[in-house]
Amino acid sequence: MSTIRMVLRICALASHPLDVARMQHSYPCFRQMSTDAQSIAARLSASGIFRTQGLIGGKWTEAYDGNTIKVHNPATGDVIANVPCMGKRETSDAISSAYDAFNSWSKLTANERSRRLRKWYDLLIAHKEELGQLITLEQGKPLNEAMGEVNYGASFIEFYAEEAKRVYGDIIPATLADRRLFSLKQPVGVVGAITPWNFPLAMITRKVGPALACGCTVVIKPSELTPLTALAAAELSLQAGIPPGVVNVVMGNASDIGDTLLASPQVRKITFTGSTAVGKKLMAGSAATVKKISLELGGNAPCIVFDDADLDVAVKGSLAAKFRNSGQTCVCANRIIVQEGIYEKFANAFANAVQNLKVGNGFTEGVAQGPLINEAAVQKVESFVQDAVSKGAKVMLGGKRHSLGMTFYEPTVISDANSEMLVSREEVFGPVAPLLRFKTEEEAIRIANDTNAGLASYIFTTNVQRSWRVAEALEYGLVGINEGLISTEVAPFGGFKQSGLGREGSKYGIDEYLEIKYVCLGNMDRA
Ligand code: ADP
Repeated sequence: MSTIRMVLRICALASHPLDVARMQHSYPCFRQMSTDAQSIAARLSASGIFRTQGLIGGKWTEAYDGNTIKVHNPATGDVIANVPCMGKRETSDAISSAYDAFNSWSKLTANERSRRLRKWYDLLIAHKEELGQLITLEQGKPLNEAMGEVNYGASFIEFYAEEAKRVYGDIIPATLADRRLFSLKQPVGVVGAITPWNFPLAMITRKVGPALACGCTVVIKPSELTPLTALAAAELSLQAGIPPGVVNVVMGNASDIGDTLLASPQVRKITFTGSTAVGKKLMAGSAATVKKISLELGGNAPCIVFDDADLDVAVKGSLAAKFRNSGQTCVCANRIIVQEGIYEKFANAFANAVQNLKVGNGFTEGVAQGPLINEAAVQKVESFVQDAVSKGAKVMLGGKRHSLGMTFYEPTVISDANSEMLVSREEVFGPVAPLLRFKTEEEAIRIANDTNAGLASYIFTTNVQRSWRVAEALEYGLVGINEGLISTEVAPFGGFKQSGLGREGSKYGIDEYLEIKYVCLGNMDRA
């Protein structure tokens, strides 16, 4: 029996502790999973959403050569499942399925697509608990944050189920009396959606919601680190009545899958969330077939605390903006820039608040900080902290691996950071908060804008005029004023400069998946 089948079978069987023990004895691979992971996997399996194969044309599919990759629990290192390691051939078939399905899906009425998306939303919410557990299991974030991601992720499906019915065109006043001009909007076609591991559900629904709403079909490539949530969501899309071929999921060899999507003239759009380096590659690769592209890339979010800020609001907001998902989001505050008059008070209050963040396995009650995604992520954080210290920064709190081992890192506050340090120049993507000092509003804006990134930014001030002035001056796609958590399905999300192209969410998000067609009707004078 192949390892995947073995895991699937044991997950289907092992719903009782005694079964778990029996399975452990019979199948060595199952012994790699902790008891917690086994029982969660068993529960997920019983609910029918623990899928470990790719989805092509509505069929659950192994890699054609039988190769697999292991999915690990970052909190324990346990193997959760083996999933197919797919490549060019599977991706080509997924594209063909999506291309064929486009014909019928795009011809449904908006209302029909809307109803199915709404059903999908209902199913995602009905399975919130299992999906949350799956996210914690493969990604590591605390369970309450994971459940929050399910709500957030599902909200894009709900929102675009509604927007599906609002894709309007225009009647354009004609320049000649015998003509009638209008514009209509049509789906762009097959979409390749490439997503990262930090939000295993939401990064997919943000793309697939608007794509499906307007009639596109998709080939999703989730991160190989967190494919199980994507597969569970895809299973629920089938249960919602979204026809086979409309949603396809392939994973495995990222560059082979990416190259196949890029090379295909049938794929008319690439939507990507991930690193700036890969985003640039995809942008260049899209040129050969002139695809439409949306990119949501890295950030370097400034969080500016002015002397006139409400201290409690500033601490609470900066904490949320920095330490959500252990600092592993592209909108996480990367630099906390504090005015000199409030600097000491803020630094102490902030460090106190950070000290109270409980670190541990995301399934443990009260945990606010899970593990980092992998060893490479920890090494990056370590090297950034080392660089900062070598250039004169002081570690106020943390600054090293956590005693829990694995990929746990202590929530860290660094004072006396400056713009020359790696922590300020690049995205740390971990639980490290560098504090920089400034004197004037102009200086704060200059420091904040001194980067090629331009995704999220945050300001803390009680001065209304200043909040407008600074919000307008920041070269960022998102500005939070006195608030650290600002993402929502109803507002446009996207970056300035090298943080990306296009917007996700809101009424604007659907435009990324639409072509505008101009139609001219002539000879109106003729009887
Ligand atoms: P991160 O550092 O967040 O993992 P990446 O940009 O490496 O960011 O990954 C984001 C997504 O892009 C993942 O699904 C990954 O597998 C995919 N990816 C990485 N390299 C390529 C590539 N050459 N072509 C297509 N997708 C890629």
